[in-house]
Amino acid sequence: SDFVPLDDIPVWTPTAGGSEPSRYKRNENLDKKISLYTGDITKLEIDAIVNAANKTLLGGGGVDGAIHRAAGPLLKKQCASLHGCETGEAKITCGYSLPAKYVIHTVGPIAQGGVGEEQRKALRSCYKNSLQSATENAARSVAFPCISTGIYGYPPEQAVHEALATVREYLDAHHDKLDRVIFCVFLPTDKELYLQNLPLYFPAA
Ligand code: ADP
Repeated sequence: SDFVPLDDIPVWTPTAGGSEPSRYKRNENLDKKISLYTGDITKLEIDAIVNAANKTLLGGGGVDGAIHRAAGPLLKKQCASLHGCETGEAKITCGYSLPAKYVIHTVGPIAQGGVGEEQRKALRSCYKNSLQSATENAARSVAFPCISTGIYGYPPEQAVHEALATVREYLDAHHDKLDRVIFCVFLPTDKELYLQNLPLYFPAA
């Protein structure tokens, strides 16, 4: 199969320097717990992948469509029993035919009308509630897509800061509960954004 096991996902190693001062201090408990992976999230053979779902949880386009196609029809069946999901919340299911054990479905804010405090808080809640759901279910490796930055229109260069800050803050408090958090990017432009900004949130010093 073309599944990607956790051991084949490189750990992101903080590099010294950068053009901007870091926003956080080094936390050595977080060493080897972060990855930046470019590719299809449905291939990751890890404990949990996060789905950028919509409120119905019944499937859609983008990463949601890819996850439902790869997981098979039982995923939709379980999702239909969950009565939807509010923006910023997260609900967990089995992974079915996916190599991941669980799918954590979260609903990002719609940002086509612009980003305000409401959208910013909702996006942070998606990351935080997804991590909480993972730890509650003893999932120790979790991958995130770039939530809301596709169809939902959240500017990727703003979303990256909410993603990195929220994961950093969660790991500061709960690093013992997680082995790896993987930022799974799909577009080369998102890869560049994460490479630029990871050192601000996970600095070497
Ligand atoms: P949203 O509705 O939350 O904006 P989208 O699925 O439209 O969600 O986009 C979220 C991100 O997921 C985008 O960066 C998109 O490029 C990315 N994406 C699409 N397919 C995949 C996939 N198979 N694996 C990982 N990321 C994906």
